[in-house]
Amino acid sequence: MSESLLSDANQRLKKALRYVTIHEDAVERLKHPKSSLTVSIPVRMDNGSLRVFQGYRVRYDDSRGPAKGGVRFHPGVTLDEVQSLAFWMTFKCAVLNLPFGGAKGGITLNPKELSKFELERLSRGYVDAIADFIGPDVDIPAPDVYTNPMIMGWMMDQYSIIRRQITPAVVTGKPIAMGGSLGRETATAMGAFFVIQTVMPKLNRKPENTTVAVQGFGNAGAVIAELLFRAGYKVVAVSDSQGGVYSPQGLDIPSIRKIKESTRGIKAVYCEGSVCNHVDHTAVTNAELLELEVDFLIPAALENQITAENADRIRASYIFEVANGPITSAADAILEAKGIQVFPDILVNAGGVTVSYFEWVQNRSGYYWTLQEVNQRLEEKITRETELIWTIAQELNCDLRTAAYVHALKRMGEAIEAKGTREDYVK
Ligand code: GLU
Repeated sequence: MSESLLSDANQRLKKALRYVTIHEDAVERLKHPKSSLTVSIPVRMDNGSLRVFQGYRVRYDDSRGPAKGGVRFHPGVTLDEVQSLAFWMTFKCAVLNLPFGGAKGGITLNPKELSKFELERLSRGYVDAIADFIGPDVDIPAPDVYTNPMIMGWMMDQYSIIRRQITPAVVTGKPIAMGGSLGRETATAMGAFFVIQTVMPKLNRKPENTTVAVQGFGNAGAVIAELLFRAGYKVVAVSDSQGGVYSPQGLDIPSIRKIKESTRGIKAVYCEGSVCNHVDHTAVTNAELLELEVDFLIPAALENQITAENADRIRASYIFEVANGPITSAADAILEAKGIQVFPDILVNAGGVTVSYFEWVQNRSGYYWTLQEVNQRLEEKITRETELIWTIAQELNCDLRTAAYVHALKRMGEAIEAKGTREDYVK
C-alpha cells in the first residue's frame, strides 16, 4: 500500500467540506489525531520465553464526549491503520449522535498462534500499558477484528484490579455475566440489516429478487448473511480469509455457519457436509467474490478491499460497507462513475458502537435492558439517521458517503466551536 490510510481517510473529510461550512479551527483540529500512544507489551509465553508485542491506542477526537472504539488483534496492525480507524470512529459516533468521540486500539500479532493463556496475559498486559489512557469518562475500548467478549472481560477485570474498583463501563462488548449488554454480539450485523431494510423501498427492491454476496464470515459477516437469508434475500456467495463459496441459486447460510463452527473454515464447505450435498456450488477466492454480478455486495472483512486496481471490475449494483474502510477514496470515484451506489461504513456498521453505548449506559445506571429493548432502540436510532442521510444526499445531490460525513461534521463542528474558536480570543 503506497498511500497512508489516514491521508486517504482525510480525503473524505476534504470532499465533505465542499458541502458544509464549519469553522476553519474545527477543520484544522479534525485533520490530526488528538493523541496516539504506542506501547510495548511483554508477555510470558507458555514455554517460559518472553515475547514483546507492539500495541497502540489512539484518541482521534473527544469534542463530543469520551472517545470510543474497538481493539484489533491482527498481524497487519500499524499506527497508521489505528489512526484511520479512530478517525472513522469519530465520524461514526457523530453520525449516530452518540455522546462519544472516536478512538481505536490494536496489537500487531496473529492471535491464532497464541494459546488461550498467552492471549489472556497479552490482553491484561495491554491494559496495564494503557490504563492511564483509558477510563469510563475518557476512552472506552470494545471488540474489533479478532477480539471478542472473553478478551473484553479480561480487559475490564484487569482495569478494575488496577483501579481497585469494579469498573464495568471502561470496556464494552463484555460477557453478559460481567455487565455486557444483550444484543451486543449481533449488533453490527443487526444495524446493517436495519439500514438495508430502511432503504429497500427507496431502491424499489424486494428481498426475494435481491442477490447478495458477503465477504467475511466473522461476527459481522456471518450474522448479516444469516439475517438476510432469513428475511428472504438470496445470499449467493460468502467467504472467509481462506476462500469462499458461490451458488447462483442461493446458499443455505445457517448450515454453512454450523459447518464453519464445527470445522473453523468455509473451505470445509466445499466438499463435506450438508451444504455440498444440497447446493451446487463453486469455490471462489475473496477477489472473485468481490467481482460477482450481484445486486448487493457486502464487504464485511478488512479495509482496502476495493481499490483503484479492482474497482472497475466490480459488478454489484449497491455496496453496503459492513467492514471499516473496505473501499479507498480512489475506488469511490470509479464506483460512482459506474453508477454503483455505496452505503458507507460510518452508517452501515454503526450498530456495534450504538449497542456499546447502550451497554455503557446500562453499566452506569446499573439497570439492564431486555434484548427486545436493545434491538428496538437500535432500530429506532439507526433508521432515523439513515433517513436523515438519505435526505441530505438528495438535497445536496451528492453520494451517500459524503452525505454521512456532512451529517457528522455538522454535529462535530458545533461541539468543537462551542469550546471556543479564534473569534473568542481575537477582537
Ligand atoms: N469495533 C467496532 C467498530 O468499529 C465497535 C466499536 C465500539 O463498540 O466501541 O465500530
